[in-house]
This record gives sequence, structure tokens and C-alpha cells, in this order.
Amino acid sequence: MKLKTYLAALDVASLATPANFGYGSAICRRNAVELISEHETEVEAWAGGLDGTVKEGGGSRRRVHLYLKDGKLQHHCTGNPKHHDIFCKHCVAVALYLQKN
Ligand SMILES: [Zn+2]
Repeated sequence: MKLKTYLAALDVASLATPANFGYGSAICRRNAVELISEHETEVEAWAGGLDGTVKEGGGSRRRVHLYLKDGKLQHHCTGNPKHHDIFCKHCVAVALYLQKN
């Protein structure tokens, strides 16, 4: 399955906390997602780097890796600690971007 096909049917909000979903939505809405590489089952992108409050999508720019492995969505953000790889606001922003583009 292609990553975009998987994402099209995905409820991104179900993967993140309500706060991170809101922050990530703001990052995406303000066009602060930039693709680095895009393949059928794998995408790398920058997300963030905006001014303003966290609620407005403000914060550091991070590199996000989304990919499918055994039919399941995997994620990694360089802003997350090694053993605490949550679906953070940057992951939310990239996932939403891919649903819309
Ligand atoms: Zn992050």
C-alpha cells in the first residue's frame, strides 16, 4: 500500500494528543511543512520553525520520517527523545500536509 493511500483513510487526531493535534494543525495551516523526499511508502519532511506561540504553530523546526512497515504507520521526529517517540505536532503537521497535497 502507498503511504498516501494509507493516510487518506487515517484519522490523524486519533494518533496524537488533542494539544499536539491542534499545534500540528496550525503548523500545517501556516504552510510550515517542506518535503525532503517522497517515495511510495516513505516520506521525510521538515515541519515547524514558525514564530508565535505554540498554539499558533510556533516552535522549532524538526525533521519527520513517516513510513509504512508491514502495513502499519511508523513515525519518527528528531524532536522526540529516543525512547519516547510520540506522534508529536511535527508528525501531525506532516501527516495533514500529505492528506491535502
Ligand atoms: Zn516533533
